[in-house]
Amino acid sequence: MKTYELMALPYEANALEPVISRNTISFHHGKHLAAYVNNLNGLLPGSDFEDATLEEIVCKASGGLLNNAGQILNHELYFSQFTGKPTQTKPANALGEAIDRDFGSFEAFKEEFQKKGATLFGSGWVWLSADKDGKLVITQEANAANPIQQGLTPLLTFDVWEHAYYLDFQNRRPDHLAALWQIIDWNTIEKRYQQTT
Ligand code: MN
Repeated sequence: MKTYELMALPYEANALEPVISRNTISFHHGKHLAAYVNNLNGLLPGSDFEDATLEEIVCKASGGLLNNAGQILNHELYFSQFTGKPTQTKPANALGEAIDRDFGSFEAFKEEFQKKGATLFGSGWVWLSADKDGKLVITQEANAANPIQQGLTPLLTFDVWEHAYYLDFQNRRPDHLAALWQIIDWNTIEKRYQQTT
């Protein structure tokens, strides 16, 4: 039977400051994500998903199994997409071309992505994903949902649960979302896109 472990962050807890504080990383990764991992490990024994992958659980399970596995999958994609030392301010290569093709420009994409994050009611995630033909789409997903449930490949995500920003920005979710562009590791996002084509 599988036991899930809390992912290691690919950067120091203070590396994303001032966009995301050490304090937020400490709670978000060390408390919230850790709780989802512990919860899932507690729910797996005796379930139909003892040896399943996270993706299989997210696509086939329901209730607590789905919610905790979904949150682990979402947060692993989320935390691994940031860097304190970005080498690019926007995507290049095939992903950069696809964003221009499907949204008109990188600026237009950013505006729509932020708007979808700001207007998502309650807790959830805004996603950039690729469909089977490589076409890019932005979706809003409630709670622990992930675009793989719709056959999409997730590339980039902003967490709009309050725990992601409340310590740093309080109620100002749009300001938090606008700041996140400063720490996106576009190289990682481009690699995710390349694996879909
Ligand atoms: Mn979160």
